[in-house]
Amino acid sequence: MPYPIVHILFFIFCISAVAVYATVRSIFREGSSFGSLMPLMLLLFVGSLCSLFPDITAVYNLLVNGTMGHCWIGTFPTHSLLFSFFAILFGTLVGYIAYREISKAIYLGLFGEAAFFSHLLLDDACGASCTYFYPVYNKPISIFSMMNIGFQETGLLHYLISSFVFVSFICFFIMMTLFSLNRFGFEFKYRS
Ligand SMILES: [Zn+2]
Repeated sequence: MPYPIVHILFFIFCISAVAVYATVRSIFREGSSFGSLMPLMLLLFVGSLCSLFPDITAVYNLLVNGTMGHCWIGTFPTHSLLFSFFAILFGTLVGYIAYREISKAIYLGLFGEAAFFSHLLLDDACGASCTYFYPVYNKPISIFSMMNIGFQETGLLHYLISSFVFVSFICFFIMMTLFSLNRFGFEFKYRS
């Protein structure tokens, strides 16, 4: 599985690429003060930490047990959407402390959730399976392997449905990132 720095860079430069693009563009076109970059710093702080949440037990295991185990807290899998609740909670709490506004706090919580999911996605792309749907479905799933099936083995209908479902699943979290960024002032729109 990728190291922490790769998870952070993947989230910032791939999933949040629109924020990087908008910031660089605004710095070069209009110039930006340090104060105007503060919301971006807050987003990067929450996004970076939440993109590491699934491996949070690695610190404890390394210090206490001397092992690199990082996928479980007891019997609870950290690479699951249920565990991402802590990323939402963390983002919402930081958002509320910073803005004292429930709506902005929730948007930052959603941003944290998207960052958390980007970690699962990168682990998955690198060959690991994640227990996304624990406790509803306890077996590990690899979305990228599921998308790599051919219709000769499964049938055309199964192939089309699984392709649509898994791409939509990834799209949902990327849209969540774009939606949250939009609510914090990042715009990227169509011009005719
Ligand atoms: Zn991981």
